[in-house]
Amino acid sequence: MDTPKILSVNCNHCGATLDVDEQTRFVTCAFCHSRLAIQRTDSAVFTEVLEKIEAQTGQMAGNLKVIELQNNLDQLDREWTMSRDNLLVSGRDGSRGEPSIVGGVISILVGIVGGGAWTAFAASKGAPPFFPLFGLLFMGGAVVVGLISIIKAGHLDATRGDYETRRRQLIDAIDAEKRRQLGQAGISGGTDQQTR
Ligand SMILES: [Zn+2]
Repeated sequence: MDTPKILSVNCNHCGATLDVDEQTRFVTCAFCHSRLAIQRTDSAVFTEVLEKIEAQTGQMAGNLKVIELQNNLDQLDREWTMSRDNLLVSGRDGSRGEPSIVGGVISILVGIVGGGAWTAFAASKGAPPFFPLFGLLFMGGAVVVGLISIIKAGHLDATRGDYETRRRQLIDAIDAEKRRQLGQAGISGGTDQQTR
């Protein structure tokens, strides 16, 4: 006796009872026309709507895409914070702040004017060589600090511009991906209603 057994399964979409033979793997519901896959476990036989399975897989892939983009965004933010920290300069009160071109120029001017005046004054009074030399050292130090500040300010501006562009692109990509998913959900919702 090799006649296939007939099984009763319920459509997972509309709940109708469907008779299928035990070897059948796919069936179209006679009532709602859903395409169904017949799933078997040791203890149960049940159906899954194929369209629904596909939609979930698509949605999961979409969610992964959003998660990946959000991870990229976090990474970008971390990288920016690190680059920025490396470009901060110590202010006069010892706190770390963003370098500025104006600050650099002021530092150079103060160095040249202050150091120059000190040196000229010390030299004109015939002070021991240490005193005019100190003025020159001060001048040199202030010019170097000022130049570093100006270079870092330029670098920080460029890095920030780059960071903001990439950040906008990522946020746009995340928005686009979310809209695409919402669009898909809307379309599959529409088909659901048509089949009912
Ligand atoms: Zn059905």
